[in-house]
Amino acid sequence: MSLLNKRHFTSEKYAFKYLESIIWPEGPVCPKCGSCTKPYDLGKTRVGLKKCRDCKKQFTVKVGTVFESSHIPLHKWMQAVYLICSSKKGISAHQLHRTLEITYKTAWFMCHRIRVAMEEGTLPPIGGEGQIVQADETYFGKKANPPTVKTSGQPFIKSGKAAAKLAVITLVSGGKSRTFHVDRADAAIVRQILKDNVKPETELHTDESRLYTKVGKEFAKHETVKHTAGEYYRDGVHTNKCENYFSIFKRGMRGVYQHCSEKHLQRYLSEFDFRYNNRESDDALRTEKALAGIVGKRIMYRDSSMV
Ligand SMILES: [Zn+2]
Repeated sequence: MSLLNKRHFTSEKYAFKYLESIIWPEGPVCPKCGSCTKPYDLGKTRVGLKKCRDCKKQFTVKVGTVFESSHIPLHKWMQAVYLICSSKKGISAHQLHRTLEITYKTAWFMCHRIRVAMEEGTLPPIGGEGQIVQADETYFGKKANPPTVKTSGQPFIKSGKAAAKLAVITLVSGGKSRTFHVDRADAAIVRQILKDNVKPETELHTDESRLYTKVGKEFAKHETVKHTAGEYYRDGVHTNKCENYFSIFKRGMRGVYQHCSEKHLQRYLSEFDFRYNNRESDDALRTEKALAGIVGKRIMYRDSSMV
């Protein structure tokens, strides 16, 4: 039997039951008043519907999550989350559109909402005494073209410098990545990211880039490998974990996503961080972890009624 034959992928009732077991492991909680008293079950009126015994408001498990206000059946959402979580390099909105038999636009919105579920928000700094954090930067794609100017009805692109690439910085420690899109990778921005995210007692490993020279002195130790001299590993010092992360990210972006505007890049990075950080979980567990992240992240798109 295929995994996609599981009941929560095909039945709306079981999709609700499955999501409820993840969001409410101790039993339903009223999102309006926080009551944990077993609510009235109005499932016969509408699948998943409940009524609070205390405040008398009606609710489903979707309230307050990225699925709230969505018209897509929940079992299709479950399929979409599973497909995104089980594909190493992600899955494109085009593929989702074909596989789930939904419009491309709907698939695109679903993908974005699922990425929001994967975002971890503000996290405490990583590293610490005796811990190593690798840091590295890469450049990817290109920034939007310069504005076009119309002359005699013909738009043309302003000449000038070639479009700059998008800068990305990643920090890897203990098998977990934390990745940022930055406007540009300069010493001040790199310093801010390191200061906000890495404990000063940490041993920092980078390449010989001057971006890290000054800030490196603010950490317990700073070791570098000289990539320009062909040195990639020296006595346990390397940035291979960052390189591996970037390699999965770039292959995914080229092969699967292809188009990604700068505006959305951080969301894609959250998706790649999520998969990287949960790579040892099996597909089902990774899916459940993503679903656990849907709470408190309800996002409003101006045209969210489409999904
Ligand atoms: Zn209530």
